[in-house]
Amino acid sequence: MSNSIYQSFHQHLAKVSDLSYAGAILSWDQQTYMPKNGAKIRAQQMATLRTLSHEMFVDPKIGQYLEKLSQESSLSENERANIQLVDRDYKRSLKYPKKWVEEFSQLTSGAFSVWHEAKEKNDFKPFGEVLSRIIDFKREEVEFLGYEKHPYDALVDEYEPGLTVKKLDEVFGLVAQKLFPFIKEVIAKPSPRDDFIYRSYSKERQWDFAKGIIEKMGYDFSSGRADHAPHPFCTSFGPGDVRVTIRGDEKFFNSLFFAAVHEAGHALYELGLPVSEHYGLPLGSALSMPFHESQSRFWENNICRSHAFWKGHFGQLQKLFPESLNDVSVDEFVRGINKVEPILIRVEADELTYHGHIYIRYQIEKALLSGELQVKDVPAYWNEQYKNILGIVPPNDAEGCLQDVHWSYGAFGYFPTYSLGSFYAAQIHGAMQKEIAGFNDLVEKGDFQPLLKWLREKIHRHGRKYESAELLKMSTGEELNIDHFLDYVRKKYG
Ligand code: ZN
Repeated sequence: MSNSIYQSFHQHLAKVSDLSYAGAILSWDQQTYMPKNGAKIRAQQMATLRTLSHEMFVDPKIGQYLEKLSQESSLSENERANIQLVDRDYKRSLKYPKKWVEEFSQLTSGAFSVWHEAKEKNDFKPFGEVLSRIIDFKREEVEFLGYEKHPYDALVDEYEPGLTVKKLDEVFGLVAQKLFPFIKEVIAKPSPRDDFIYRSYSKERQWDFAKGIIEKMGYDFSSGRADHAPHPFCTSFGPGDVRVTIRGDEKFFNSLFFAAVHEAGHALYELGLPVSEHYGLPLGSALSMPFHESQSRFWENNICRSHAFWKGHFGQLQKLFPESLNDVSVDEFVRGINKVEPILIRVEADELTYHGHIYIRYQIEKALLSGELQVKDVPAYWNEQYKNILGIVPPNDAEGCLQDVHWSYGAFGYFPTYSLGSFYAAQIHGAMQKEIAGFNDLVEKGDFQPLLKWLREKIHRHGRKYESAELLKMSTGEELNIDHFLDYVRKKYG
């Protein structure tokens, strides 16, 4: 029987979660089934729920619970971990001045349409003006949040607690030093054929195939569902209801299948968290953005783009699409879906050049925040970096520095988490291969249960109990070491 103050504290936070999950349902509906004319009132309803859950979270009552609980000696280890983490989040939230939050949310809600129009018209200037103001707000934000060395530290900390520019510079330094020359070697080789990817694939059959695989991965449709949406995503409404969305393209095989296994990877993580026990509490929540991304990329890239996987599943795909795949061998197929080729758009990039896109964004964000780079110089700097790193130059800003939505809502520090997700995934993959006997045979057969069991035991069930560096060390034997990613890509593409 746990402490009664702890129980009241838990009940209060459970209500905060009720509100945020209700908001998530409205947002999911907005992106799947809502008729067009529902848009206006929906935005207001979602904003109301967001405000209410925020107000409930910063309620002085939480501060009083935390104070009392800090003096309790009868609490379990998990309860103490929850208290410590809520304390951290609570103190961080209180640092935000009300006026700043209101003005910033007004600025960013208008910024989306400015960004969208700037991209449509291929004109950076109007968005540049808004972006300058967003950066002014971010500079204020880092001051009230506080940081030790680099202002950017305060922002990445939101996505990966404890992460710093020092660590990121080390990681991206190795990306530049080791990965970029390797990419050049790979693209200097004769390019594999990938014509078959753009042949005809009925959406229904693509989904039949993808559904079969995500079920084998362990995604249970009595605790989830899949619906069509313009962008694939995963969203959780609490224990027992974690959904994914898919998007099909009849003339491009990669878009449905790889996004479906990616989103299912996110969903398996959410479903593996101890949410029932710790509903509304940190131990029932996902650890961080990079960890979430590691779970999706593990399934998408390390497993479902591997030779072992297709050795066991290509025959089935060929039977579903004989007219598109009859003249293709499994080796050609695997090389085709893994083709490395520098392109302008990040979200369509392959597993290797992807990190070039992130490297550039990371350098730009850091320099904008520190004042070394001015917003008006972003387009030219962007193009110069694309030329140096990927050997391609965007013909216009729409396909250059205006391609991503992130800056319009002020998400600085988010981009690096995508790369970290791949690096964590490779390290997890490496550890699993050592620990699970006959790993490649299991992948070939589609017997994924031992893989999911490993993830559940070593990662999912801990929620936010440990910091990322610690959990990575506990699960793989060491802290982040990008050599695992480099080994993985050398083996796969060498
Ligand atoms: Zn993802």
